Amino acid sequence: MLAVQNLSVNYRGIEALSAVTLTLQAGEWVGLIGPNGAGKSTLVKAILGLMPYQGKILLNGTSLKRQRRQVAYVPQRSQIDWDYPITAWNVVMMAQTRSLGWGRSPDIKTKKLVSAALDRVEMLSLKHRPIGQLSGGQQQRIFLARALAQQPNLFLLDEPFSGIDKKTEAMMLSIFADLSQQGKTLLVCSHEWGEALNRYHRLLLLNRRVLANDTPQAVMTMENIQQAYGENIQAALHHQNVIPFVC
Ligand code: ADP
Ligand code: MG
Repeated sequence: MLAVQNLSVNYRGIEALSAVTLTLQAGEWVGLIGPNGAGKSTLVKAILGLMPYQGKILLNGTSLKRQRRQVAYVPQRSQIDWDYPITAWNVVMMAQTRSLGWGRSPDIKTKKLVSAALDRVEMLSLKHRPIGQLSGGQQQRIFLARALAQQPNLFLLDEPFSGIDKKTEAMMLSIFADLSQQGKTLLVCSHEWGEALNRYHRLLLLNRRVLANDTPQAVMTMENIQQAYGENIQAALHHQNVIPFVC
């Protein structure tokens, strides 16, 4: 469904991604893991067309440029300006403005789509709340609702489990399972390292390059952790507060 071929991204001469090649199939739920600075967010942004790259990114065999609506994005929480004065409803509606055109008021069908998405994440009753006045978990649910309302085939989620409560995590996992059953594809960035990774159908271990691309059991080996996290392995795992789960 998605094919990334020989992708490289540079930030002012520093190579953040080098010759990354991967494919995602319909209905797959894939974890993109690796330490901080590995290039996970960069890869997602390149797929979204938010930064220049070398290489090819194809969706169902053709360039992504004309198919942006097929791809929804839930950004990393730390990259969002939470002081921006916008209500939960309008954040979700943002996914619709591109198809509506700026300045046009939404029709009933669009409003129903937005309502249904907010309902799915149990946030309809707080739709008038400014986004900055919601908890971390509630904010994450609003951004997931925005992605759902877009009705894409590919979901890119950047560290969706960071800074959220257990209830939100459980809700998100059940939504991801439903989406996957419906044949939607999910790429989820995470820097977790532990048993939680068993939930993914497949893991891509990234550190500038793709170091491993296989089932969770095959990827979670001590050799792979060491290759990805290097000498800082103990510090990295301690910092992330996880118990390493090694097969
Ligand atoms: P991850 O999401 O895995 O933590 P990122 O994709 O954010 O990693 O970053 C990958 C590398 O690119 C890091 O070394 C980071 O410092 C660098 N980088 C990310 N964004 C920028 C930017 N806007 N300008 C310069 N360097 C950047
Ligand atoms: Mg990141």
